[in-house]
Amino acid sequence: MAKPSVAIMGLGIMGSGMAGRLLSANFPVAVYNRNRERCLPFSAAGAFIAATPREAASRSQIILSMVADDTASRNVWLEGGGALAGASSQSVLIECSTLSVGWIQELAAKDSERGCQFLDAPVTGTKPHAASGELLFLVGGSAEALDVARPVFSVLGRDVIHLGPNGSGALMKLINNFLCGVQAASFAEALSLIDTGGLNRAKAMAILTGGAPGSGIVNRMAERMAANDFTPNFALRWMAKDLAYALKEASGKGFSLPIGAAALSVFQKAIAEGHGDEDFSAVTKSPGR
Ligand code: NAP
Repeated sequence: MAKPSVAIMGLGIMGSGMAGRLLSANFPVAVYNRNRERCLPFSAAGAFIAATPREAASRSQIILSMVADDTASRNVWLEGGGALAGASSQSVLIECSTLSVGWIQELAAKDSERGCQFLDAPVTGTKPHAASGELLFLVGGSAEALDVARPVFSVLGRDVIHLGPNGSGALMKLINNFLCGVQAASFAEALSLIDTGGLNRAKAMAILTGGAPGSGIVNRMAERMAANDFTPNFALRWMAKDLAYALKEASGKGFSLPIGAAALSVFQKAIAEGHGDEDFSAVTKSPGR
């Protein structure tokens, strides 16, 4: 069966790995990125470089966005030259970025008005998983749209979990990152206790990572600290963004997430101290107040 043509909008850490993976699997790919220079390496690999999201969408059956936040997503789908205006009613539109549920529902309504099928399909996994096709897709939307998108998901991911209607993938992803962010922030605070208490850091790390607190997140952060390597796989500012969206979602439902709010303040302090573009594990460089 012929491979569907795919537009990838957003060639950051995740989008570039995904575009590379699709090109390696010989899918026809059109790429768009706000900063055009990031597109150039993909031209050599056979991608069409689109001047606008609309141009990328007009050539593609599957149109996928992997950008920073709600503002970036609104820009690529709706603003002048946005992808929605170029999409045909036969195409399936997929938003893979981690975004607020409210924005996903607004976008789903706009796509539906235009007669297009839409999936929210945020991912778990990070830079190496994007490049090697080992992401996990958390999908909201119709089973019919998901069936059309499956050939693309199967090249990009190790699995797909269909959670329900539009918005359910986005909500699940925010819950996932709320738990990750809270652990990361509490680990940073634990380090302050270790250091101010005069404990040996290496011994303390071995106890924590080898014991019950040694979750995937804590262990990954401990490895980054040991290597003193904070080059971003997942930028610290995006973890703060995800906590903020989780808080917004709870507040819209009439309750608060006090632990999430405290974790967000830890990340905001790290951003104010200049660590926003480093890996989220750099929150450990920002000692407690
Ligand atoms: P990234 O490396 O920072 O890339 C961000 C992308 O968004 C770039 O292509 C950037 O374009 C584009 N962008 C930013 N602001 C924009 C705007 N106002 N208008 C249009 N485009 C804009 O981020 P990433 O790590 O790939 O993450 C992408 C998404 O996936 C985020 O929602 C993130 O939370 C989520 N996510 C990331 C990971 C991870 O481990 N990295 C894992 C799961 C989910 P420019 O190049 O022009 O700046």
